[in-house]
Amino acid sequence: MRPAQALIDLEALRHNYRLARKLGGGKALAVIKADAYGHGAVACARALEQDADGFGVACIEEALELRRAGITRPILLLEGFFDAAELPLIVEHDLWTAVASPWQVEAIAAFVSAAPLQLWLKLDSGMHRLGLTLEEFRAAHARLSALPQVAPMVLMSHLARADELDSPRTLEQLAMFERAIAGLEGETSLCNSPALLGWPQLRSDWVRPGLMLYGADPLYPQAGPHAGELRPVMTLQSRVIAVREIATGEPLGYGARFVAPRPTRVGVVAMGYADGYPQFAPNGTPVLIDGVDGALIGRVSMDMLTVDLTDHPRAGVGSLVQLWGDSPTLSELAPRCNTSAYRLPCSLKRTPRVYLQQQPS
Ligand SMILES: *Cc1c(COP(=O)(O)O)cnc(C)c1O
Repeated sequence: MRPAQALIDLEALRHNYRLARKLGGGKALAVIKADAYGHGAVACARALEQDADGFGVACIEEALELRRAGITRPILLLEGFFDAAELPLIVEHDLWTAVASPWQVEAIAAFVSAAPLQLWLKLDSGMHRLGLTLEEFRAAHARLSALPQVAPMVLMSHLARADELDSPRTLEQLAMFERAIAGLEGETSLCNSPALLGWPQLRSDWVRPGLMLYGADPLYPQAGPHAGELRPVMTLQSRVIAVREIATGEPLGYGARFVAPRPTRVGVVAMGYADGYPQFAPNGTPVLIDGVDGALIGRVSMDMLTVDLTDHPRAGVGSLVQLWGDSPTLSELAPRCNTSAYRLPCSLKRTPRVYLQQQPS
């Protein structure tokens, strides 16, 4: 069997969730959209179901996958509904939905519901992607509050730059949110992972951690006060399947991106960009070879990559190569590969996920 595996440590996931909720000081919606950032939404939801106050997904398709798998906790559609025809399904499957556009307010007002709708009214406080303007937000709150088919709402907004600890933008967005909700009834929800980890002055009744649940630090390389408390959830690993000795001056792999500066022992690893490893990881990208720091050399292929074993004399065919996990972490790896810690696990494909209840030893 091909030795590539993504080990998923569900105990670490639970630990990170509890940390997020502790930092938030209230309720926490575990954001498991996009197949739980590549970690497997159903497995992650099951692992968190005892603890989680609710789950956040992008859309109804993702929510129904969880309901079909027997998940009964609240589920919020973070991107809202795309069509009024989804409203009956939202009620039938007991889902919550964000409301971020005036047409959605109209659709709800026109909808005859069997049960009260649980709405999260979303303000655009400066991200300028989804959300109502301040005037629309206050008008929508008044309109929706008066409707019998609407339960008490949660008032939400989303932060654009909370991962930049020196940006004034986050506090500007907070001020805008506070103006918009002044005097309105409803619980609040503002914090994503970087806000929880880096902005203790921002708190809300509901927090919405995503990336930090998976143990990655969105503030890296800035030193946030809680970075050391996160535990990585996914370990991407494979094994050396062949070893080559190449002479000084010999090229390695496609495009000869690496040319041996010395007699070089090359390890070929069963892991490629079709598995989700970044195709453009440069020479020198860190890997762990049998637990020892090592380096990628040569261009990453679809199914294979190559590492430098010259200084790893005991390593050979069968050696374990860790591509990400506790080292290198997603946050360390991403900037070296011109990508983000969010995207790396989301890119996982083909490699089977193996779920661990305990920390791998
Ligand atoms: C994805 C998402 C989150 C989670 O963000 P992280 O940075 O991963 O913590 C929170 N809120 C909304 C609206 C989102 O779309």
